[in-house]
Amino acid sequence: MSRFEEPLARVLGTRSKRAGLGKLGLETVGDLLRHYPRRYERWGELTPLAHLPQGEAVTILAQVVSASSRRMRQRRGELLSVVVTDGTDTLDLTFFNAGRLKHVLLPGRSGLFSGTVDLYRGRPQLAHPKMHLLGGEESQDSAVADLDRPIPVYPASGSVDSQALRRSVGVVLDTLGEVPDPIPPEVRSRQGLVGLGRALEGVHRPVTEEDWKEAQRRLRFEEAFVLQAALARRRHAAGSQPATPRRAVTGGLLDLFDDRLPFRLTDGQREVGERIAEDLAGDHPMHRLLQGEVGSGKTIVALRAMLTVVDAGGQAALLAPTEVLAVQHHRTINALLGDLAEAGCLGGDDRGTQVRLVTGSLSASARRQALLDVACGRAGLVVGTHALLQDRVEFCDLGLVVVDEQHRFGVEQRDALRGKGRDVPHLLVMTATPIPRTVAMTVFGDLETSVLTQLPEGRSPIRTHVVPAAEKPSWYERIWHRLREEIDAGHQCYLVCPRIGDDREDPGEGGHREDGDTPDADTPDGDIPDADAGPAERPSAGSPSRSARAIRSVLDTLRLVREHPALAGVGIEALHGRMPAEDRERTMRGLAAGDVQLLVATTVIEVGVDVPNATVMVVMDADRFGVSQLHQLRGRVGRGSAPGLCLLVTEAPSDSPARRRLDAVAGTLDGFALAEVDLEQRREGDVLGAAQSGGRSSLRLLRVLHHRAVIEAARHEAGAVVAEDPELIGHPALGTAIAELLDPEREAYLERG
Ligand code: ADP
Ligand code: MG
Repeated sequence: MSRFEEPLARVLGTRSKRAGLGKLGLETVGDLLRHYPRRYERWGELTPLAHLPQGEAVTILAQVVSASSRRMRQRRGELLSVVVTDGTDTLDLTFFNAGRLKHVLLPGRSGLFSGTVDLYRGRPQLAHPKMHLLGGEESQDSAVADLDRPIPVYPASGSVDSQALRRSVGVVLDTLGEVPDPIPPEVRSRQGLVGLGRALEGVHRPVTEEDWKEAQRRLRFEEAFVLQAALARRRHAAGSQPATPRRAVTGGLLDLFDDRLPFRLTDGQREVGERIAEDLAGDHPMHRLLQGEVGSGKTIVALRAMLTVVDAGGQAALLAPTEVLAVQHHRTINALLGDLAEAGCLGGDDRGTQVRLVTGSLSASARRQALLDVACGRAGLVVGTHALLQDRVEFCDLGLVVVDEQHRFGVEQRDALRGKGRDVPHLLVMTATPIPRTVAMTVFGDLETSVLTQLPEGRSPIRTHVVPAAEKPSWYERIWHRLREEIDAGHQCYLVCPRIGDDREDPGEGGHREDGDTPDADTPDGDIPDADAGPAERPSAGSPSRSARAIRSVLDTLRLVREHPALAGVGIEALHGRMPAEDRERTMRGLAAGDVQLLVATTVIEVGVDVPNATVMVVMDADRFGVSQLHQLRGRVGRGSAPGLCLLVTEAPSDSPARRRLDAVAGTLDGFALAEVDLEQRREGDVLGAAQSGGRSSLRLLRVLHHRAVIEAARHEAGAVVAEDPELIGHPALGTAIAELLDPEREAYLERG
């Protein structure tokens, strides 16, 4: 057993219990040592009690003369008044909520106290000073000598005070001895990093500021390095598996398809297509992430890859995050392929193939037939949702899996599907939202990456306006007329609301849940489009209108627009996740056919929905949505040649953070930039997925948005170590660190589900 796994109770005895470390979830030596201080304070110069400058920060060394506590009248708890002396003069210290302190600040006890001097009833006092009490073994002289030392302050932890933590850590460090270092010495020297033992000492017991800085630098690198090594091993393991090469053929289905495409591929689409074709022709499975700006045309890229595989005699599956999207993909692919999708049928082109849709809501017989066609290989292309992951689905020769708008497909689920081929199929993952490079490197670090930034030609940029409904009621009223004009011009419009508004919701539920999942306003069967990479929008407090007014819902808004004179005669439908699947499908079909002119919806349409004729997106209570989510929503319009318009309706006051977020969305069409804005505002855990936010994250010092250079260096070093020693035989400490990172409790992290 490594020193790090040793229970604290064994090292600290009863001190561990007394210090309440268990309450912080600190059970082992490793837990305690990896519980780093949040910041460091300084005592500063000592001030004599005789010369206390009012209103200024001071540090004094003094002894308790007397202490008394009494209940407070206005507030809960006890007020503790302490008189201290430096031998000549005296000073009052005041503590609210005295608690344990009154048993500690006993007459005779000495310590350092620091705070800001104020006058109370004509006498100077320190209210709530920070303090360091001297024990018996610590002399006043040594305390004074220590004044220059940075004082570690640990993350706020209720009943456990920093001083108790410092003492416990001290005992552990004193008995620690040699510790195995997951960063190999040559990497350390190349990167100029101190060893693990010295880093732990420096972070918890620094003598100088430089100590904790170099310690943090090293520990931060370690976090990035271990994570990247884990990802590099995953890449390596996958890359050494055999796969059936699927080589492009000339004059095949892909060529026929390209000849019929009603538009020219963008340069990006062509280049990424070539890259993918190379991967597919290799004898190791492709593992590629395709990132793309919203509307950049990822679907075509995926479909062309799928056709390449069919040309080579295999099958390809496309997984969508929602049924709505799967149905749409199925329809689009059929439309694009035309008679090429009807091989073997009357009037079909026999150089073609067949496309099957497999979703949870197929009738039993339709499902049986579809599964049969998949199993015998008659269907070269299969589109589906999670239902495709079920065990009963057998493929004849699955050569490629495409995961569209990745949010919910974790590594394990991808593996489950890939396990369905004779060999491991090739894998193409497409993200729903542009994500900053370092996040991609961290969260999808086991995949190679391609990026599509260019939009197809002929698109006019989407204009976005914030509509402050309360400040400008006339602007708000104008919306309905604007919709009317657009519809009269032959276009279609969306109106998105943060909630459904049936009685099955919690009142006031907003666009986001705190746990980083999407509004459960949507489908019951887990068929929810995940919002942008796990939102966790904190409902912005401080907006008075919010509590006074209910958040706009689909059902209320539906009533409003159906009764609004400006919209008389318009084909209006609703779409949300709690509608029966067949109703949803009918509405989507009506939308695609143009019969539905105005769609009032929840974020079911957030991701992927592609109706080129749609031109206006109105988002109600837009401040309830995340930045990337709004960018996604906006991406639903302006997909054809007509210009798109996006209106963000809000009642958030003009100087609020919520409004600034909306202004940011209105201010740029660059999804990568917005992704950074979005992530800036989240806790680190949200960036990496819900699994990281609770409990003890493995990333304590590393911030994926801010430590790009660290992540890149760590990725480079880790890649080299793993390439040379894939089993990490010569790097046992690194192996252990990876195993800890991936232990069952934390495995969820890599699933990013
Ligand atoms: P996303 O990358 O957001 O998934 P889609 O793949 O849905 O985007 O493509 C958006 C729209 O652009 C679709 O209607 C698609 O047919 C169209 N499209 C794709 N590529 C091109 C192109 N090269 N030229 C014109 N339109 C294109
Ligand atoms: Mg898409």
